[in-house]
Amino acid sequence: MTKKYDIAIIGAGAAGLTAAFTAAGFSKKTVLIDKNLPGGECTWSGCIPSKSLINIAKEVHHAKKYSPELNIDTSEVLRDIQNVIQKVYAGESPEVLQQAGIDFINAYATFTGPNTIEVGGETIEAKKIILSTGSTPLVPPIDGLSDVDYLTNETIFKLESFPKTMTILGAGPIGVELSQALNRLGIQVTLVEKADRILSNDDEELALMIQERLKQEGVTIHTGATAVKAAQQGKQIKLTVEKDDQEMTVSNEGLLVALGRQANVSGYNLETAGVEYDKKRIQVDEHMETTAKGIYAIGDVVGPYQLSHMANAQGITATQNAILPINRKMKYDHVTWCTYTDPELGQSGLTEAQAREKHGDSIRVYEHDYADIDRANTKKDSIGKVKIVLDKKGYILGASILGDRAGEIISQIQTLKTLGINMGKLSSVIHPYPTYSEVLVKIGKKVYVDNLLNQPVVKTFNKAKAGELPVGKIGLYGAAAAAAGVGIANMAVQNNSKPQLGVKNGRLKEMPSTPNAVSSQTTVKGKFVPAWPYNGSKEQAKKNVLGMLKSYEGVRIVQVSHNYIYAVETSKLMRFKDDIEFYFNDAAQQIEFRSASRVGYSDQGVNRKRYEEMRKRYSSISTHTRNS
Ligand SMILES: Cc1cc2nc3c(=O)[nH]c(=O)nc-3n(C[C@H](O)[C@H](O)[C@H](O)COP(=O)(O)OP(=O)(O)OC[C@H]3O[C@@H](n4cnc5c(N)ncnc54)[C@H](O)[C@@H]3O)c2cc1C
Repeated sequence: MTKKYDIAIIGAGAAGLTAAFTAAGFSKKTVLIDKNLPGGECTWSGCIPSKSLINIAKEVHHAKKYSPELNIDTSEVLRDIQNVIQKVYAGESPEVLQQAGIDFINAYATFTGPNTIEVGGETIEAKKIILSTGSTPLVPPIDGLSDVDYLTNETIFKLESFPKTMTILGAGPIGVELSQALNRLGIQVTLVEKADRILSNDDEELALMIQERLKQEGVTIHTGATAVKAAQQGKQIKLTVEKDDQEMTVSNEGLLVALGRQANVSGYNLETAGVEYDKKRIQVDEHMETTAKGIYAIGDVVGPYQLSHMANAQGITATQNAILPINRKMKYDHVTWCTYTDPELGQSGLTEAQAREKHGDSIRVYEHDYADIDRANTKKDSIGKVKIVLDKKGYILGASILGDRAGEIISQIQTLKTLGINMGKLSSVIHPYPTYSEVLVKIGKKVYVDNLLNQPVVKTFNKAKAGELPVGKIGLYGAAAAAAGVGIANMAVQNNSKPQLGVKNGRLKEMPSTPNAVSSQTTVKGKFVPAWPYNGSKEQAKKNVLGMLKSYEGVRIVQVSHNYIYAVETSKLMRFKDDIEFYFNDAAQQIEFRSASRVGYSDQGVNRKRYEEMRKRYSSISTHTRNS
């Protein structure tokens, strides 16, 4: 009998599960098929067990700082990892799928036609088919390798206990994460890598920092080293390695092959369905559709990034294209990943080197060391660095972060990048103190300043200031705007020029640190302005001041209290705000005055001019009221 479905999905890993839930969410009759239990590599042999191992190893590592003799029973560790796997699996079991309206079939699927599949003796016919058949560990034809009992990610977490010594072949994310974690549990690890450094897809400087950290922790690392032969010698696996034209051997109890992934493209009759592929991937277009109409492919079997979250993104795109009358494109501009070493290494978009290659030297690169982050300094041996690469307008092209919580911090960058928000905007976002994410606000402030300094009007002004342009050629507007712009820029950098408003101990609070303020209470020469006499009762003086303030366009009265009036003037051109304060000093029967611009740069005497202007209006009003 043939069972008919709207959507059939082969492979119940990260990609297939996402596709199935999406299809079922649109009330499509959905079947999900897997030769194994749902969850795929991520749950059973990838993300989940590796991150669980990393967590345990991290705890052990930190505990060992205070108890160096700590011995770890790795069989306990492996049992804990299996428990974690079961916890995650519970959220994607066949029962859970059934509740979501998804039929799960636990069998091997093979194409029998363009829209028919044979599954455990039954035939499934589907309007649309999605292939999410994943990948398997790549094991190259190294001489003797197939004769030794090597491990891969598919077998290592199923061990009873870890070997005491281990060679790890391949220093990509999997090899590097596992070498640090195993070493921390007391296993003697040797990492062998063909390239001249570890993590070759990541920023070089940051990858070398983590390489150094691994060495400090006791991992032996051979880079530029190619494995050419493997042989079992008693309990040891001997690996022959070529390095600098010389042969050397690395012998350990265990050998983990972590040399990348191989797409699962054979064994299920793709040819019958007209799906083209090569040994690296199934061929798809930007809508995730294969060369056979109505058949889509997603996840590791397609690439180009073999990561769970990319598989999820492809799953949503493909399923929506399959069931809705739309044609969404899968874009990879916003790729991101994190390597979960301690500290973590996160990446969003382009590395600096990639950005330079693509955009030339117009890019702007912002760097910040973890040593300058208070939260990082609360930890003894913290290392890290943040690199953010922007286009010339301040939009994010990419970021690389090495440091504690890099995976979380990079997610914030990823949000800004994906939503097209200028990095400078982060300057005004309040973050809790002390957090690692604060680093982004610090960088945001620098970007904000640079954005401002890059504005044509400010550039012109600065050129004139530097004598590169005749000043006469710049209009007053340009100069004032530029000056104010630079002022804001300075303020943003210093972030300490917030005016101290209000009254304290019978005085206006101390002068702000900005250079452009005038006050009748300052002792600073050149900034002193005389107070105004009441010329009558205080109440009348207050009325006169309020009348005077109301006669100005752009002045807003913010606060009027017993002895104090506070107003804000917003300039027309650039909408800069200046604070104006009056204190009614009953003992001296005079009105103290202060005017301060919020920008930290000379504003060509605006406050002094304002004072003179206001004083004239005030005395004209008070003369008028006295005489009337
Ligand atoms: C050690 C390790 C750590 C990792 N850590 C991370 C990480 O931290 N973050 C991250 O984003 N990614 C990580 N990854 C990568 C991630 O696991 C994969 O990108 C992701 O699981 C791929 O999902 P998928 O659905 O494409 O394939 P898979 O999960 O491999 O699923 C494919 C499924 O298809 C089934 N199948 C294949 N052919 C057939 C057939 N003919 N009939 C029936 N069933 C079939 C298989 O049984 C399998 O269940 C890690 C990988 C490894 C190995």
